[in-house]
Amino acid sequence: MALNKIAVYDSWKELDPGPDYPVDVRFAALPVLSKKAIREHFPAGMLPPGLDIDRGLADREIELVDTSGTTEEKITNIWNQRWWDASEISSWRFNAHFDGISYNGHREAILANPRNTGIVSDELDLPMDKRRLARFLYLNEKTDPTTWSWELMNRMVKELGAFRPEVLEANPSLLARLCRFIGKNNLSVFQPDAIVLTYEYTTRIERRQIKQIFSSPMISSYGTTETGYVFTECEEGRFHQNADLCRVDFEPFKSEYGGPLLGRILVTPFDNPWCFFIRFDAGDLVTLEETGQCPCGRNSGIILSSINGRKANLTLTVGGRPVMLYELDESIGRLEGIEQYKMIQSDYRTYELHLVSRAHEKKLLAREAEKALKDLYGPGAGIKIFFDTDFPPELSGKSMISRALFPIDLDDYLE
Ligand SMILES: [Zn+2]
Repeated sequence: MALNKIAVYDSWKELDPGPDYPVDVRFAALPVLSKKAIREHFPAGMLPPGLDIDRGLADREIELVDTSGTTEEKITNIWNQRWWDASEISSWRFNAHFDGISYNGHREAILANPRNTGIVSDELDLPMDKRRLARFLYLNEKTDPTTWSWELMNRMVKELGAFRPEVLEANPSLLARLCRFIGKNNLSVFQPDAIVLTYEYTTRIERRQIKQIFSSPMISSYGTTETGYVFTECEEGRFHQNADLCRVDFEPFKSEYGGPLLGRILVTPFDNPWCFFIRFDAGDLVTLEETGQCPCGRNSGIILSSINGRKANLTLTVGGRPVMLYELDESIGRLEGIEQYKMIQSDYRTYELHLVSRAHEKKLLAREAEKALKDLYGPGAGIKIFFDTDFPPELSGKSMISRALFPIDLDDYLE
């Protein structure tokens, strides 16, 4: 077990009740692996003695990748393509829409922020051949999608037609943006066999915008650079754990805060020769499927009814109850005429909702939005509504949909 070989776990060893106990009991006794601990111990303290990172780099077995984001979020990871591919192939078993596609060699277009994957070129527009890599085509090289020109978006549409990808993998916020462009300009676009939404939470508004343009099945895939593919949405809309490739520990919220079905997840990826994370906290909050079963019939591992956003997206009601992005999105997603939104809670009773809208009746929309937020956060909530023209992404390259400007400690709400 990694506990005995790797320096970062030195202080954990005494907490392990030992091999006489069931594996679930042993895991539950252990702390959480934080990004801070990884940063402090990387690289030597995160690897067993004798595993030579320089040798791995020289042999091109691995690369080092820095995750983007704030200092608090940033860590360096060892990227092992072979393990990543194994994790992705395994995740495909959970959705029938992948059945007709052969994993090896399938053409895949990626519409991501190049800070997350791809090639950054903010000044120059890169020709298509400079954005090809193996079976991939990177459709976007700009870090700030609010700068996308008409020509650039038109190029993306044309390239989808020329490249004819079987899979289109996308940040939902970027694909929704491209779909708004396609809709406004009445263009037609190539339909891939499957659209995989990843990197970000998909809002209901984004999902509708994408559905207006693409009839391809949409599959949400949840994972991280650190953990590989952890949950995949099946054709019934539930999320299945990639149980062959990772262990997931579920920690429920207290019942007064939405537990026991609502909770956070800690991930222990398996079989990665270069990564030995145990109970890694990626910061994600989920809801277990209450029946423990899915109409699709797949029943290995944990089944989720929803993935509810990240800890960083949490806000609080005036009464102090934590509100997941999922719940906020349910309220805002019911309103008509919103293209994009962002909710910032500036103090315990002040909520600033920023909207991008092409609605003519903005006053009416503002009144409806205020009512929706008071229903959610409490009658004493101070709601401010702003109409903006666009939202650039966060430093991480991802869109930010909700957050509080004060610290929220998850331990206050967990069982
Ligand atoms: Zn299912």
